[in-house]
Amino acid sequence: MHTIKYPFKNFPQDKKIVEVQKGVYWIKILLPSMISHVNVYVLEDDDEITIIDTGLACDHCKKIWSFLINSKFKNKKIKRIIITHHHPDHIGLLGWFVNNFNTEIWTSRSSWLTGRMLTLDKKKTVSNETLNFWLNAGIPFEIVQEKSLEKPFNFIDFVELIPLGYKRVIDKEILNIGENKWIVNLTDGHAPEHITLYSPNLKLFITGDQILPGISPNISVYPTEPLADPLAEYLKSLEKLLKIKDIGYLVLPGHNLPFYGLSVRIKQLFNHHKKAFKRIEDSVSKKPKSAYDIMFPLFKRKIEKHEIDLALGEAVAHLNYLWKSGIIKKEKNKNGINLFVKCT
Ligand SMILES: [Zn+2]
Ligand SMILES: [Zn+2]
Repeated sequence: MHTIKYPFKNFPQDKKIVEVQKGVYWIKILLPSMISHVNVYVLEDDDEITIIDTGLACDHCKKIWSFLINSKFKNKKIKRIIITHHHPDHIGLLGWFVNNFNTEIWTSRSSWLTGRMLTLDKKKTVSNETLNFWLNAGIPFEIVQEKSLEKPFNFIDFVELIPLGYKRVIDKEILNIGENKWIVNLTDGHAPEHITLYSPNLKLFITGDQILPGISPNISVYPTEPLADPLAEYLKSLEKLLKIKDIGYLVLPGHNLPFYGLSVRIKQLFNHHKKAFKRIEDSVSKKPKSAYDIMFPLFKRKIEKHEIDLALGEAVAHLNYLWKSGIIKKEKNKNGINLFVKCT
């Protein structure tokens, strides 16, 4: 296969589910956030169901789940929730499920620890680490000043408290769910130890946000670890997934439409980053530039103020990758801004 094919032309409508294969259901949950929706999946057995990802902690998401559980899955026990990774759109309602339905939690250690740890943050103002991260990345002082007055992002605003106790899912583990075997591959870059699952007999591949169609997954550096190199981890994880023979898997992603063409999409994502690296290298070939400066060549468009956070994290990720690969070098100017220039 050389192209991506979408067997479903449309998303399931609100409160509707689509059976992508016998006993495997796809639900699109609309989100009241910058991210418009998340896809969640339900695996149904004779007397129980397994849910993959939950949506945000919001009344709308709870209403959808309550409706579906009471109508479609009325007589089934919710045996377990598998969380692909710790981001709020995926883990948000985990606590609600456990408290209301006494379900098991299955996830990776990093997803569970990171999610639980992040619920501790209840910042009233933007942290100093974040302000320094912005300034070091070259965001103009006036914009930093303006942004410093905004309400900071608090994970706990979008996520129910994450319960104590879970089953740790490890790399290459085989999960027996109903009559089917699902093989785990943990991946990094988008989120630490992000779970992907595939079932050769069902020919289904659940990729969460690691592989998405239409958009490239967000690979960002955050103020918590400014020297991180998530792109190196992401590209390594792509290589790992590319080694799995694509026997015509239907890919079930965390966002956008399910598709055929897993290997094709992985290669497209490699190319996407390769081209981005090239544009950045060209941009820093003559004059040292900051992360803020390279946002335009990276995204090939002007970044609006409300997009700066996400875009900047991706810009730093690309620069850190090139810097750690020895392709560009880093220096600080007199104002403390990190500037990057191509090695000669
Ligand atoms: Zn994510
Ligand atoms: Zn997501």
